[in-house]
Amino acid sequence: MRKKIIAANWKMNMTLGETDAFLETFLLEVGDEKRVDIVIAPPFTALARASDRLSRVQNVKLGAQNMHWEKPGAFTGEISASMLRELFVRYVVVGHSERRTLFGETDEIVNKKAKAALEASLEPIVCIGETLSERDGGQVEQVLERQVRGSLAGFGPKELQKTVIAYEPVWAIGTGRTATPAQAQEAHAFIRKMIGAISDAATADKVRIQYGGSVKAANAAQLMGQPDIDGALVGGASLDPRGFVEIIKASIV
Ligand code: PEP
Repeated sequence: MRKKIIAANWKMNMTLGETDAFLETFLLEVGDEKRVDIVIAPPFTALARASDRLSRVQNVKLGAQNMHWEKPGAFTGEISASMLRELFVRYVVVGHSERRTLFGETDEIVNKKAKAALEASLEPIVCIGETLSERDGGQVEQVLERQVRGSLAGFGPKELQKTVIAYEPVWAIGTGRTATPAQAQEAHAFIRKMIGAISDAATADKVRIQYGGSVKAANAAQLMGQPDIDGALVGGASLDPRGFVEIIKASIV
């Protein structure tokens, strides 16, 4: 039985004041909900503040939105895994489609980041997903296979079990257009099959695969009810503390 994992990706949003305000409301509303794993990934500038506040609760973990794969050194503008660890970050999103399309991240780079995260005892949330033209061109499986094999190259059962995959069809991110539960389930089942192909069926059965792409309270329950969907990576709708709690509650099926 895979425990669901619901993660907030705040992207380039939230000042320190907004982080404080969000957490005050959110922590009150979410209470000690432990039936799902809950993650909040603020921007780097708000990590320390969120870390401090979350150190007083047990059920909400801290995530980062990106990291560099190198050890600390001459990499201007980058953040290392050890810096994230120091702030008690537990998860790190790697290969988000915005990083891939706007900042040129390839599967090879995503693979280096995910490996470096694991080496530092961080749990990577590895994002994959096809564009609209790839879907329309009937290439969904081909793209997902390439991304799974590339982003998770060299991962054995041990590494895979510490990794979360986020299936995020690019055409559904921030567009208000969600994959239907059937479309999402089909892609998730295929990703699980691919994980089985690069490892084994027992490992594939344990890996959590989140769905991401315009998830909101109104569509969360149906998506989360699919057998291979193990949670959600939520962008826009995670900026509202009450709305995010509603998504968490809707995922408990
Ligand atoms: C995301 O940023 O990972 C995402 C899924 O965004 P949104 O929920 O806004 O589509």
